[in-house]
Amino acid sequence: MNNCCIRGAITAEENTRENILENTKILLEDIIKENNIEIKDISSILFTMTKDLDEVYPAVAAREIGITEAALMCACELYIKNSLKMCIRVMVSVNTPLSQRDMKHSYLKGAEKLRPDIVRKNKKINIAIDGPAGSGKSTIAKNVAKTLGILYADTGAMYRTVGIYCLKNVIDTNDETAGSEKMEDIDIEVRFEGGKQLIYLDKEDVTEKIRTQEVAAAASNVAKIGKVREKLVEMQKKTAQTQSIIMDGRDIGTHVLPNADVKIYMEADVDERAKRRCCELKEKGIEFEYEKIREEIIQRDNADKNRKISPLRKADDAILIDTSNMSIEEVTKKVTDIIYKAEGRR
Ligand code: C5P
Repeated sequence: MNNCCIRGAITAEENTRENILENTKILLEDIIKENNIEIKDISSILFTMTKDLDEVYPAVAAREIGITEAALMCACELYIKNSLKMCIRVMVSVNTPLSQRDMKHSYLKGAEKLRPDIVRKNKKINIAIDGPAGSGKSTIAKNVAKTLGILYADTGAMYRTVGIYCLKNVIDTNDETAGSEKMEDIDIEVRFEGGKQLIYLDKEDVTEKIRTQEVAAAASNVAKIGKVREKLVEMQKKTAQTQSIIMDGRDIGTHVLPNADVKIYMEADVDERAKRRCCELKEKGIEFEYEKIREEIIQRDNADKNRKISPLRKADDAILIDTSNMSIEEVTKKVTDIIYKAEGRR
């Protein structure tokens, strides 16, 4: 067992006994819930309040929610010019098998702005980014994930993995019945290591192998099959359930995460997208013909937009960003700003 400390703060709305106790309880209950601790695990709590709150000791709230064994102490917060008004702060000591690094600190209401970094880490946020091939989704999602310190999940990689499986096993990707039957046997596993998504097919790492035009076309075909979508969507939903995530694809805002906190729909004109694809191929030293790449993109757009199940479309509540004339930095900043704004509202 370790003895760890959890920090937290909340602002009160008024200097009354009821309001101070109510907010202190909200803060303590949030710390207990977020860290999955039991009252008996709390060994002591240090409370401080700003001078403008003086109607009751905040420790009373702890006693009222059943924290009766822990040592409690209240003190007046150091007065610093222009600091947050009507603020209640706590430092909770707990006995836990976890380490200090795992503790989830709580900054609520007006106190959120004291530690925006911690607020984001503690509150689960789901961000959906959809759009056609080459619109910039994955580059932007990766950048945003890094900035926010959350996971990036690339759902296209999962459809590509089913695509490569069919190519390897000579299964006609246009044959819906064959594809549906095989879905039971496909062993796909997604792992996140060091912030990177790795994808395994039958225990083999296929993360890089799936990045070809041939596999992309096969993915687009298998993506029409109901059984394929059912299995992959279930995996995607599960991944997003337990952690903050930015997920990109074609149906994230409409089907996979219909309650996402932020939904973005990215598009760009087809020539710009074809140019971007060609640049990527050039960087990898892969030969290409511009017209062929452009045609493949158009074909994939048509297949994705016109399929019967979960076609590519903008969710009604998604924010549209046309990235045709924007740099990667500009789009990253725009998306990050949208997320920060949404978080401020929560
Ligand atoms: O995004 P990416 O180009 O890797 O996706 C490959 C194909 O997988 C897409 O063209 C689309 O047909 C399919 N897909 C999908 N739904 C998703 C992600 C990808 O249908 N959420």
